[in-house]
Amino acid sequence: MRNMKSIYFFNEGDGNNKKLFGGKGAGLAEMTRLGLPVPPGFTITTEVCNMYYASGKKLPRNLMNKVKKKIVKIEKKTGKKFGSIENPLLVSVRSGAAISMPGMMDTILNLGLNNKTVIGLAKKSNNPRFAWDSYRRFLQLFGKVVFGIDDKKFEQALERAKHAQNVQADSDLNEESLQKIVLEYKTICENHLGKPFPEDPYKQLELAIEAVFRSWMGERALVYREKYKITKDIANGTAVNVVTMVFGNMGNDSATGVVFTRNPGDGTRKVFGEYLVNAQGEDVVAGIRTPQPIDNLARELPKTYTQLMKTCEKLERHYKEPQDIEFTVEQGKFYMLQTRSAKMNAIGMIKTSVDMVKEKLISRDRAILRLQPEQLDQLLHKTIDTVAAKNYPSIVKGIAASPGAATGIVVFDVKKAVQFGDEGVKVILVREETKPEDVPAFFASVGILTSRGGKTSHAAVVARGMGKPGIVGCSDMKIDYAAKKFQVEGKTVLEGEVITIDGSDGNVFLGEVPTIEPKLTDDFRTILNWAEKTKRLGIRANADTPEAAKLAREYGAKGIGLCRTERMFNARDRLGLFVDMIMTRTIEERKAVLEKLMVLQKSDFKEILTAMKGYHVTIRLLDPPLHEFLPNIEELINRIHSLEKQNTSSEIDATKRILDRARELAEINPMMGHRGVRIGITFPEIYEMQIRAICEAAAELVKEKVDAHAQIMIPQVGSVTELIQIKKIYDQIKSSVESKYEIKLKINFGTMLEVVRGCLTADEMAKVTEFFSFGTNDLTQAVFSFSREDVEGKFLPEYIEKEILVENPFQSLDVNGVGSLMQIAIAKGKSVKPNLEIGICGEHGGDPISIKFCHKAGLSYVSASSHRIPIAILAAAQAALLEKSERKPKTKKSKKKK
Ligand code: ADP
Ligand code: MG
Ligand code: MG
Repeated sequence: MRNMKSIYFFNEGDGNNKKLFGGKGAGLAEMTRLGLPVPPGFTITTEVCNMYYASGKKLPRNLMNKVKKKIVKIEKKTGKKFGSIENPLLVSVRSGAAISMPGMMDTILNLGLNNKTVIGLAKKSNNPRFAWDSYRRFLQLFGKVVFGIDDKKFEQALERAKHAQNVQADSDLNEESLQKIVLEYKTICENHLGKPFPEDPYKQLELAIEAVFRSWMGERALVYREKYKITKDIANGTAVNVVTMVFGNMGNDSATGVVFTRNPGDGTRKVFGEYLVNAQGEDVVAGIRTPQPIDNLARELPKTYTQLMKTCEKLERHYKEPQDIEFTVEQGKFYMLQTRSAKMNAIGMIKTSVDMVKEKLISRDRAILRLQPEQLDQLLHKTIDTVAAKNYPSIVKGIAASPGAATGIVVFDVKKAVQFGDEGVKVILVREETKPEDVPAFFASVGILTSRGGKTSHAAVVARGMGKPGIVGCSDMKIDYAAKKFQVEGKTVLEGEVITIDGSDGNVFLGEVPTIEPKLTDDFRTILNWAEKTKRLGIRANADTPEAAKLAREYGAKGIGLCRTERMFNARDRLGLFVDMIMTRTIEERKAVLEKLMVLQKSDFKEILTAMKGYHVTIRLLDPPLHEFLPNIEELINRIHSLEKQNTSSEIDATKRILDRARELAEINPMMGHRGVRIGITFPEIYEMQIRAICEAAAELVKEKVDAHAQIMIPQVGSVTELIQIKKIYDQIKSSVESKYEIKLKINFGTMLEVVRGCLTADEMAKVTEFFSFGTNDLTQAVFSFSREDVEGKFLPEYIEKEILVENPFQSLDVNGVGSLMQIAIAKGKSVKPNLEIGICGEHGGDPISIKFCHKAGLSYVSASSHRIPIAILAAAQAALLEKSERKPKTKKSKKKK
């Protein structure tokens, strides 16, 4: 690899090799090859970035010689010359990694300008104002990015100049003012450096290339990669793109713009975006001037508009994916500066998936694979209740930039937002505009509200990318950072007050506005339908109530993989009874209370089984330790104290009795204590009651001709002997119910696998069961010897930070450890019963990456919480498709071998 070519001209690059060229470089190469008007330039590969770091942050020795050769090539193509006083060549120096990290690293424009070339540019363009404007932009960006000078210093100088000339917009500054600004900017740089500003264009270029490499390890980039889990396998280093400058700021026949080939908000097939006349690149994104909607371009620059539309179509047809592009027009001539796959919200992704299949642009498989399962979460959450919102007058309206509703407290300060967010406080970040360095606050906030900028402003792009509700350009909102408040007509809102924002229509409300549950759109259903036909894994739900069962079914679940019976005891009318049961001292007493509980459980089971009729419903018998249902000891002591003051002796006695019982049942380590099947063995009457409730519910449903399929699952089993004991009870109760109702029941008996010993003896377990279900929450605890609550609260974050663990194993299945144990259990189980039903019901059942593992491991189904069912369906379909493509023999062997 060492001898690989380190610099590629755009026409030599490989549009498919984003790892080597970065996304931007690959896009520029591909567009050049497609014959689109890309300004000449070259890409320095990500390999060079890695060499830079490997050699202790030094550019390879001969790199600048190679760069020079490429610059000469550009000079030949353009007729301009780097450093020339007559016809200077200017370039931009742009970063670009394999994964697009928008705004994460800085681009330097107009490089090559100095005190001499600026005169040349003024003469050649016959436009001194433009030349000086370009120069001051260069100095500002170069000062900020290369020397790390605080941008404020430049901004303040700019403000002073505008004030002196008495104008509002940057574009109104005249030549004289711009010259003064340039002088000031230079002084700022030289004061900072303590030496003259580098005038030599090659020196400038060298410094800029280094700065781009440095930015790869900059804080913003690091935070972004960490948050989005961008590992070295995904993107390793940034490339540097050196591109001939084209000027959108050369007058009113020049412009620059950013467009999406389809609307990223809802996926509609219509070019969407903004542009600015007489402006340069970053002006559109920065939100300093308010840009024009792209439709206006048809009037203002009709020829450009036509070219743009044709280009969009060509790119879509080529990439088979909506694109997000940057273009610039220099005195009527159209140039393409960037293309990449458009980031869209979930609605947009789903609609474009369905549309592109209809347009025959892509296959169904591709339509499924291009979606990110996790992103669907956006659609499975609440939006604002428009009817109820009528009682909440909107206090101000901005531009709807990222859909969804969010309620939180107003926070103006970025650091404070991060702090509050970490503490779990719901925060709406309110700013005039946002910059890349504010991104950490986006993660910490539930919604974003800005007073400036358009739909492609930084705030809008980032909010959409993260799927967070966002409103931008809310210009009637006047923010006073110093006084920590904002004002809208007739109202002042202070920091800390609760507001609700509706990113779907741009309205801002005071207080918490009611929201409603989401509904599946037709397009969403279409995708789920396709996914359903593609996947192999079954999808069931973790649902404890008839409501959850109905929702899960509506979302496409085929069965319940985990119905926790103890949840039913926690309901208000049950808890008293359950406590009574725990307090009993004799079996007879206990049986009397259990009799009452049986009636309640039976009717619960009937409802759930009916809601899931036609599909399996796996009911887990009581799992938690009994003392969990009693008040805690401290609370009981306090209660006794206050009762003693009131002198209500009968109650004191009763409470003391509960306290005694609580002390008796207390455990040092409840997680590993008297729970699950261990309760079933020691208090068999409890499990008897539950098994009877299930059998009778099933029997009554048979009589009512409801197609119910109950399964009984035993938790925490470590020895087959435990199972055998419970199985006896089951057999006996089942046959007694069968004779009572004069029917035959089909109720499968199975075990949860969540104890290590249970997994290791799965062959024995298989002999007495009809199904297994991995309880991966407890299993993960057991395999790591982690107590989840303690670990997550105490040291897990540090473990992840220090890369001891890549991820929280309670969120994403630990494939190497827990996964291996599962595979052992699966093999052992199937060696006894090849058709054994094996599922997973831990939270991992709803995690897309874990689902891929489950597919590979040959599980029968995954069980996920109701609102994650669509995510699980899609992930299961993707797992099936990926397996298909992996199994296909490779058609071409890669030619280049090390
Ligand atoms: P980002 O990764 O933040 O999008 P870019 O490298 O795309 O950064 O550049 C920032 C802005 O500068 C964009 O608007 C881009 O179009 C513009 N730009 C970059 N290179 C040139 C160039 N050679 N000529 C004109 N504008 C450019
Ligand atoms: Mg860009
Ligand atoms: Mg468990």
